[in-house]
Amino acid sequence: MYNITLIPGDGIGPEVADAAKNVVEATGLEVKWDIVNAGLTVYEETGVLVPDKVFKSIEKNKVALKGPITTPVGSGFRSINVMLRKKYNLFSNVRPIRTIPGINTPFKNIDLVIFRENTEGLYSGIEKKSSEDSAEAIKLTTKDASIRIVKEAFSYAEKNNKTKVTIVHKANIMKLTDGLFLDCAREISKNYPNIDLEEVIVDNMCMQLVMNPSQFQVIVTTNLYGDILSDLCAGLVGGLGLVPGANIGNDLAIFEAVHGSAPDIAGKNLANPTAIILSAAMMLNHLGEKEKSNFIVDAVLKTIDEGKFVTRDLGGSASTNDMTNAIIEKLLSLS
Ligand code: NAD
Repeated sequence: MYNITLIPGDGIGPEVADAAKNVVEATGLEVKWDIVNAGLTVYEETGVLVPDKVFKSIEKNKVALKGPITTPVGSGFRSINVMLRKKYNLFSNVRPIRTIPGINTPFKNIDLVIFRENTEGLYSGIEKKSSEDSAEAIKLTTKDASIRIVKEAFSYAEKNNKTKVTIVHKANIMKLTDGLFLDCAREISKNYPNIDLEEVIVDNMCMQLVMNPSQFQVIVTTNLYGDILSDLCAGLVGGLGLVPGANIGNDLAIFEAVHGSAPDIAGKNLANPTAIILSAAMMLNHLGEKEKSNFIVDAVLKTIDEGKFVTRDLGGSASTNDMTNAIIEKLLSLS
């Protein structure tokens, strides 16, 4: 029996989180879900963004599956996602991006994993107004955080027989911050003589990714570049509805889709549940349930390849529930 925290989130979050919960249960895994919510919906109801029971549940269970949470642009509250990643030191944001059979895209054979530093850099939102008409942000970069994410990327590459790790940076301009990140990567790479370290500047990386993405195997980068490149890569394999993600620290882990709360389609049973279902598969893998994780991935891939029950973003007309049920049916026939 596993105790898992489930945070449905905002917008399409509750719809897709429910889909993932049903798929995990269909594997036969015994799970006691602790369903606790955080975000805009909870805030509007209670005036609290993250109720205490959410923290307590994550701290007790050590593993959480989370739907997207709305973060208002410009004003309003700071991102809960960023806060959770920092609070629990979930330093490694892992996003596998793979070509999915049955999805028509200009590229074939994409199989890469992005390791995004998850706790510092420009994305951590350390900002202040410096005058009425100006504001500044701090791009905090430390050796410890840089080394630990680069080590994660190399260790993954070694375990998965990859031959190259690509570090994405802008050290030609950000000489101190990205320069430090790059120096750490060069240092760590010496411990992995069988894996090449490729250094690519972030603007060139954007072009390389949209020209020839299959040249990349493992990408390691800082927080903001990783955020942007993940969405770009999601677009290469068919969109945000397809790409899973994990936030992993030494002690606990939170699994979530790359996409946001998609307010434009929320509550309409239109959202593609694939990304969070594949995130749940990553979670099962993390828990050591590799076989059940593989069943989920196979069921998702076969459902998409058949193309009968896929959501609108994939060119189909199935609802979230239809697609989820088709995945569950496939899963039951495989396991
Ligand atoms: P978004 O990912 O919510 O949506 C971008 C586009 O992709 C929209 O057209 C949406 O309909 C589509 N889309 C996203 N997920 C989909 C799915 N599963 N199925 C089908 N279509 C899908 O990005 P946004 O509009 O920039 O952000 C909306 C809100 O989500 C913002 O408040 C943002 O801060 C938040 N957000 C949260 C997270 C998170 O919780 N991890 C991540 C990204 C954005």
